[in-house]
Amino acid sequence: MSNWPERVTPVCMAAVTGEVGVTTKIIYNTALGVVDMISVDEALEKVLSYVEALEPEQKPILDCMGQVLADDVYSSIDIPPLDNSAMDGFALRAEDTRGASESSPRYLVVVGEVAAGSMPRKHVKPGTAIRIMTGAPLPEGSDAVVQFEDTDEVGRKSLGEDLSRIGILCQAKKGLNIRCRGEDIARGSLVLEKGTVLRPQEIGVLASLGRSTAPVIRRPIVAILATGDELIGVDQPLAPGKIYDSNTYTVAAEVSRYGGIPRILGIGRDSVQSLDEKIAEGLDADMLITSGGVSKGDYDIVKDVLAELGEIGFWTVCMKPGKPLAFGVIKKVMGRKKRKVPHLGLPGNPVSSMITFEQFARPAILKMMGKKVLAKPTIRAVVEGDIVNTDGRRIFARVMVTRRGGQYYASLTGPQGSGILTSMAKADGLAVIPESSKGARAGDMVEVQMLDWVEGQGEGKLPPIVSVVGKSESGKTMLMEQLIAEFKKRGHKIAALKHCHGGMEIDHTGKDSWRYAQAGSDAVGISSTDKLAFIKNLDRELSIQEIVAIIGPEYDLILVEGFKRSRLPKIEVHRQELGNDLLCSPEELSAIVTDGASDTLLADACRLPTFRLGDTVAIADFIEKKFASSRRSDAC
Ligand code: AMP
Ligand code: MG
Repeated sequence: MSNWPERVTPVCMAAVTGEVGVTTKIIYNTALGVVDMISVDEALEKVLSYVEALEPEQKPILDCMGQVLADDVYSSIDIPPLDNSAMDGFALRAEDTRGASESSPRYLVVVGEVAAGSMPRKHVKPGTAIRIMTGAPLPEGSDAVVQFEDTDEVGRKSLGEDLSRIGILCQAKKGLNIRCRGEDIARGSLVLEKGTVLRPQEIGVLASLGRSTAPVIRRPIVAILATGDELIGVDQPLAPGKIYDSNTYTVAAEVSRYGGIPRILGIGRDSVQSLDEKIAEGLDADMLITSGGVSKGDYDIVKDVLAELGEIGFWTVCMKPGKPLAFGVIKKVMGRKKRKVPHLGLPGNPVSSMITFEQFARPAILKMMGKKVLAKPTIRAVVEGDIVNTDGRRIFARVMVTRRGGQYYASLTGPQGSGILTSMAKADGLAVIPESSKGARAGDMVEVQMLDWVEGQGEGKLPPIVSVVGKSESGKTMLMEQLIAEFKKRGHKIAALKHCHGGMEIDHTGKDSWRYAQAGSDAVGISSTDKLAFIKNLDRELSIQEIVAIIGPEYDLILVEGFKRSRLPKIEVHRQELGNDLLCSPEELSAIVTDGASDTLLADACRLPTFRLGDTVAIADFIEKKFASSRRSDAC
């Protein structure tokens, strides 16, 4: 049981001095209570049930990045407003270019020119053309634009020939290089729907409609309070026993990153009076986030102060890091006005504070901003080290994510202590190990919540490649061997590849690839015009997912033999002469292939699909239907 005080009174009040002449009553008005252990999902659900989308406001479009449109936006104009040219060239009648080619140009009389931003003053009549620039309105009478490159204009200019005539070198179809009035946006049409999150492209669309402001759900103001006697501000000299307050800055930066407006209240001391005062300062915000003081230490009084002020939930959340969390709703009474301010009390440890922010404060801020997608983007990645779950909590392990061969890999950022903030600084994701699992082994697939989608997550920089060439018998292989040995001595990881013209013998004694391996190369390969063979030294056995990532995605089916301990779908081959029992337990199997009589088969008992050895067509049909076809429908 938790040793936090059990509150039974549903509503409690305390008077705190607010603005001059106004009494601000703070009421913790939730029946969230003290909960011994609550799951991450339950905690999130509760937090979200206490926040709503905020009111709309009309704002200059450039200030609306990442905000949600509060109203449908219709267009009062056509875009483009007139038919216009998509190219620099000549506006003409397609009919006048019939049969035109480089060897047989059609000559037209140039009757004028029109630039973007001006209106054409002449019409195009049969046998004439008007020089036109990209974006310029199409002259009446014309129905196509031929670009300069398909005319003899350049040649004429260089020869100093008369430019009042132009030779057209290709046959144009009606509509060629013409952008039609309203083809992007038709007047009166719905352009951006209420609920759209405004990105640079939507802001551009608003500008193209001639809008300088937009109606958006306003950004939440988030008051941020760090607590602890040990904390000092970053502009102070570091005194003995003190540490710099970093949570204020991570939390404020997170608030801004997700679209909120941080309001820094500073550092509250571990005293009831200090916290009371600071909390009162934050009550006109849309949300209050405190850090520290919610665990079980003697000076962890945020919970006591809040409990004194009224009811609040103190939760032990089933997660690591970040177990203690406080949550409540402060009802602020100012005169006759009532406002509710949700309060999230994050743990003090910098990593716990940031991870709990990501799990609970971020979705709450997004919901207040009117967003519908609240979950963090996730990927599936192969974990590159063991992560042990000792006490059945949901683990959020800090990982660096890389992508190799079309597969994501996640490796731990190093020591995972909840005070080691650099473990977050190195991370671009949080590997999520479910509370129900005992952990993940190197090679297992895990879900990773992405903190960022950074460029470094691309395919990664390729290693430098140097090729050793020379005439036959010049000693290329010997040099390769010497270089491999030398680079190994210098601690490099080396791969060596041989371009083969003849056979594909790899690793045969005396062959070049064998000699590279003997010289110490960590990977050797041979490649010909139509084959590649590769042997790679491993420091541990790869999981099948990792191997598949190396094999590549272009195959419709990968058939493997063995890997009986993997979680792959399996078909067991059974021979009667080897006994009636099976190698694998029936639950692990998808089917059995046997030479036994069907009525004596074990499989009958476990009702697995059973095939006769040799009935390859039926087995292939089964595999195709059950596995290969599901891949196709997945892809749709
Ligand atoms: P608490 O939850 O208050 O017991 O704090 C747990 C740990 O986090 C202690 O080691 C604190 O010194 C540290 N801590 C608390 N608040 C902050 C902060 N704002 N910045 C950096 N570390 C903090
Ligand atoms: Mg503290």
